[in-house]
Amino acid sequence: MADRREQLAEHLRFFEELGVAGYRRDPVWSSRPADLQARPIGRGPMGRSADLQVGPIGSSADLQVGPEKADLKVSTTTDVSTTTDVGPPDVGGDNTADLAAIREDIGECIRCKLCSLGRKQIVFGVGNPRADLMFVGEAPGRDEDIQGIPFVGRAGQKLTQIIEAIGLTRDDVYIANVIKCRPPENRNPEPDEVEQCEPFLFRQVDIIKPKVIVALGTFAAKSLLKSNESISRLRGRVFDYRGAKLVPTFHPAFLLRNPSCRREVWEDMKKVRALLNGQDAA
Ligand code: URA
Repeated sequence: MADRREQLAEHLRFFEELGVAGYRRDPVWSSRPADLQARPIGRGPMGRSADLQVGPIGSSADLQVGPEKADLKVSTTTDVSTTTDVGPPDVGGDNTADLAAIREDIGECIRCKLCSLGRKQIVFGVGNPRADLMFVGEAPGRDEDIQGIPFVGRAGQKLTQIIEAIGLTRDDVYIANVIKCRPPENRNPEPDEVEQCEPFLFRQVDIIKPKVIVALGTFAAKSLLKSNESISRLRGRVFDYRGAKLVPTFHPAFLLRNPSCRREVWEDMKKVRALLNGQDAA
């Protein structure tokens, strides 16, 4: 019980941090029609099976974003399915094997100088191989380099909150970076490093075939879109990108330093949900 309370408090805290205030106490909102229960998320266990449904999941909370009411209902429960390695056969291609083949091609990469500049390991990518939603960051930082998993440090925790704020979990989405090795002192990746590494990201995108890609921060947005515009100019717009819709937003690390930008990130995430639902992201 105490656990549940703490979970609920934690859940409400992160919505508050994201700039979402208020929820409905109306009992109607806490009962669910039977067909919404145990609703599948993503394309099933390890991406197999059902279509992504992003709608009211669990007992919905009617959210208010600042003064105006958001059109978004977000789960206050955690009963969404998570990825496991059991489930029906992977109809339409074995993405897990295809991704493993890319990882094998990368090997103990020595294609650029980052291999001799202190990187501990390659940080390939993590998540649902058939995700409808993919997040792309810049490059691994210290924690990611140690663990071999993208977005596990403080910025990663912020990203997890953002993902959960749209009713998904990290297991539902796929997370990767433009480059797969940590640059020394977390400096920006250099053009030759990007040039060597980004083909592997393109291959990941082409296998996963997400409906929506969120480019996290200036570097990812500019690299993917081959643009010189800053993130402030790129965000708020939706781009066509390798068969997906690309939504640029602020990097979670930037959000940690500039919490006042959470409103914009929330707006971007509402767009993401609309796109996942097959709606126009007006
Ligand atoms: N920042 C990034 O861009 N990627 C990570 O994996 C972690 C922090």
